[in-house]
Amino acid sequence: MTNVHASPAGRVHTSRITRRAWLTEDTFILGLERPHPFEFQAGQHICLFHGQTTRDYSLIPGRRHNELTLLIRRVSEGLVSNQLSRSPEDSPIQFSGPHGYFTFRPSPRHPVLVATGTGIAPFAAMCFSGLTGFTLLHGVRHPGELYFRNRLAPAARLYMPCLTCHGEDLPQGTFPGRVTAYLADKMAVGEYDFYLSGRREMIAEAIAIIDRRFPSSRIYSETFF
Ligand SMILES: Cc1cc2nc3c(=O)[nH]c(=O)nc-3n(C[C@H](O)[C@H](O)[C@H](O)COP(=O)(O)OP(=O)(O)OC[C@H]3O[C@@H](n4cnc5c(N)ncnc54)[C@H](O)[C@@H]3O)c2cc1C
Repeated sequence: MTNVHASPAGRVHTSRITRRAWLTEDTFILGLERPHPFEFQAGQHICLFHGQTTRDYSLIPGRRHNELTLLIRRVSEGLVSNQLSRSPEDSPIQFSGPHGYFTFRPSPRHPVLVATGTGIAPFAAMCFSGLTGFTLLHGVRHPGELYFRNRLAPAARLYMPCLTCHGEDLPQGTFPGRVTAYLADKMAVGEYDFYLSGRREMIAEAIAIIDRRFPSSRIYSETFF
């Protein structure tokens, strides 16, 4: 049963948790019942309510039309992500949305998607909604954190995991370092549409590199924390 009513911040929906699947020790997929009606554009997010507290999470289309999914990292000491990691299936949950403008804008320039960690979520949504032929740099520590790799890599023109773990044998086809090092040292000079998603520090550093190396490019960004 889903209730929808209008609110100043957008529509507020009451949904419930349908499933949780752990991808790593601290990152999980959370399935939510899709309110009706509820439409969103790939790249948009919802604002989850936890008492008086709210947190934003990017929307990923579910396996079925009546499901929405979120990719959530349980942050140590994090208030809401810890609660969501423990809430039993069927728990009611409230959110507003969809919110945001971090959506794909077709253009003559080649799209370069750059994510750290769960910042991959909006790009997964774009890819699962039909986007192909992009360059994707995904920065994580370990190969096990390359969420949705099996679906993203075949859709990309270039899928480049950027791994920051040290002292391990890195798999072939990966870059040993941060996404920003790849942008600074490996990316061919050109005009691109850059989409940046994840940590604030990565986004600030990437923008500085793009301004220097790819000055006629466009930049769209979504800061997670
Ligand atoms: C537009 C938008 C979309 C977002 N989408 C997602 C998403 O799809 N998946 C997702 O996991 N998060 C996403 N976030 C981040 C999310 O809203 C929360 O900030 C995050 O879940 C932490 O909330 P918390 O209450 O558990 O931790 P808090 O109690 O708010 O924070 C505890 C500490 O953890 C730090 N922190 C917050 N997030 C992270 C992180 N991911 N890794 C390491 N440290 C962190 C904070 O800076 C703070 O110091 C998004 C944020 C925005 C603004």
